[in-house]
Amino acid sequence: MSPSSRDVHEDVAAYALGVLDEADHEAFESHLMSCEACQVELRELSEVPGLLDAVRRDRSNSLDDDRTSR
Ligand SMILES: [Zn+2]
Repeated sequence: MSPSSRDVHEDVAAYALGVLDEADHEAFESHLMSCEACQVELRELSEVPGLLDAVRRDRSNSLDDDRTSR
């Protein structure tokens, strides 16, 4: 087994969270075009309340900190 044959399908969560490297992100996007399983998975992941929300809340918290610290 070569290291590059690692299951690319598993990157879907990282892709949904936006934590992939630029190269991995692009590689996954082209995989996504041809992989229905990942398209479904991605849709399901973006419908999970809390998962993506947690990331967004994290980001807006830093913005709120800027605002409330004055
Ligand atoms: Zn896939």
